[in-house]
Amino acid sequence: MKRSPAAKLSAARGGAKLAQAALIACALLPALSLLCLRLQPALLRVSGPTVQLLLVIVPLSSFLLAVFLWKARFHITQLEAQQAEVIHKAGVDPLSGLPNRLFFQQLLDDAVAQSSPEAPIALIAIDIDNFKCVNDGHGHGAGDRLITGIAKRIRRVTREGDCLARLGGDEFALMLVNVENAVQCAAMAHRIHDAMVAPFDLGSAQLFVTVSLGVAMCPQDGSTAETLAQAADLALYRAKHEGRNRFAFFDKAMEQKLHLGKTIADDLRAAIVRDELTIAYQPLLSSCGMRMQGLEALVRWQHPELGPVPPEDFIPLAESRGLVVPLGEWVLRRACSDARRWPHLRIAVNVSPVQFRQRGFVAKVKSILEATGFDPNRLDLELTEGVLIQDAEQAENVIMELRALGIRMGLDDFGSGYSSMIYLRRFAFDKIKIDRAFLASLETNGEGAIILESIISLGHALGLTVTAEGVESADQVEFLQKLGCDELQGYFFDPPLSAEVIDERLSMNAWVAPAAEEPRLPAPVEARRGVSAA
Ligand code: C2E
Ligand code: CA
Ligand code: CA
Repeated sequence: MKRSPAAKLSAARGGAKLAQAALIACALLPALSLLCLRLQPALLRVSGPTVQLLLVIVPLSSFLLAVFLWKARFHITQLEAQQAEVIHKAGVDPLSGLPNRLFFQQLLDDAVAQSSPEAPIALIAIDIDNFKCVNDGHGHGAGDRLITGIAKRIRRVTREGDCLARLGGDEFALMLVNVENAVQCAAMAHRIHDAMVAPFDLGSAQLFVTVSLGVAMCPQDGSTAETLAQAADLALYRAKHEGRNRFAFFDKAMEQKLHLGKTIADDLRAAIVRDELTIAYQPLLSSCGMRMQGLEALVRWQHPELGPVPPEDFIPLAESRGLVVPLGEWVLRRACSDARRWPHLRIAVNVSPVQFRQRGFVAKVKSILEATGFDPNRLDLELTEGVLIQDAEQAENVIMELRALGIRMGLDDFGSGYSSMIYLRRFAFDKIKIDRAFLASLETNGEGAIILESIISLGHALGLTVTAEGVESADQVEFLQKLGCDELQGYFFDPPLSAEVIDERLSMNAWVAPAAEEPRLPAPVEARRGVSAA
């Protein structure tokens, strides 16, 4: 059986202790024999030959034991060196050559223990933006090359005494010692961003890559290594959330938000069980005749104390706390059963990536359709790019299975992500929904209009229905109509409305344009809104 270096070392240490004890015992023996010599006449009379034998054996055995001990010590030194090497290797990330998470934690612990308000330290959490797309689109070899390239560039801009570590994946951490103030941290963050400006050579491609940074200072933002790291992570989260390729400093409000997040997650669990969520339906209109084609189901939550919580706040929480599966199923079931009373309309339901990746998702959708008696040909499922990034093959199969049921698959927020064009080629979508950011930049940015036009032509060339969301003005409607966009959705027409308001409006024929009417612009929503919005 092969023993670990640590086990060998402890065995050798045990052996050496024994040898040491034996040597001490043997060292006593020459002293004893000397005593014997002094007392020789008396002793010789008692047992002369025995003492003489002792006088030879004792120094000889002492010498032999000393040799054994020396060898044992040498062995220990060797094993200790081996173990030091093992520890060194375990503390270093083999890809980047930087300290790894474990080693960095020890270094951070020590630095935090020595820091004080007069001698603060700072921690910068660093994350590569869209790293998954690099791995996915260019292979893991390219991903590895990017990691080493980024590590080198950051190291080049750090000062002596600063410690850069790779915590795993695309996460790095930089500990700054002897920082006097936040301005110095900001300067370092700028230096890191500047270091990323040139493209990275990944062998197969040259790629422009950005990083997001979260900065926290010790002791004011966290007085232990753990709380400091948490603060830097929260700041990083904000930098990512605000659009990536930037840095953010930790502030106390983030911490409060985290606590609030915990409360919300607990309450959301109860809200799903108690059926306290509702759905608002936002109309989708045909661009040419301004007829209502369908409705998008958007979940709503009225928190008993906090009031309405936007889905963009609670859906990510539901995803991270494992609640999005029951939540998504609830929305699908409710939307299908509500929509049975609108037989001429399609219903679009959003599917979170976490929900989509769940084993048995297709079977669940099928069972909900059966239970509610809803026609799968009237159902659209809207996916975002996030679904496609991880395990593309699995996503491809699930999309095909859902389409085989008659469900129409839509790619939501098209153009907001990293490489939507690639996804259009690979996955069998039926429709794309252009991200509302394109429309928002349309008036001010001529390039935005060109991109929009290209997306619509591309969608049509691929035989897809093209929907524009976030339509807020008559000018936008006119422009989108000119470009031949198929469906429009936005506050210009209607905000998301409760099922009851939809019923009322339908009974008033509010959305159905007279047959054979030429395309025309409807009155803005304010003018038509007689009933309260959801
Ligand atoms: P989304 O799927 O892109 O939904 C469209 C969002 O844009 C909705 O926000 C809608 O109210 C808003 N919107 C509609 N027209 C306009 C407009 O003219 N201007 C602007 N600025 N915004 C407009 P909402 O309801 O807050 O939902 C936000 C996001 O939350 C949704 O984005 C979707 O990603 C997610 N979401 C909502 N309901 C569900 C759900 O049941 N399941 C899942 N997984 N996600 C949902
Ligand atoms: Ca959507
Ligand atoms: Ca969208």
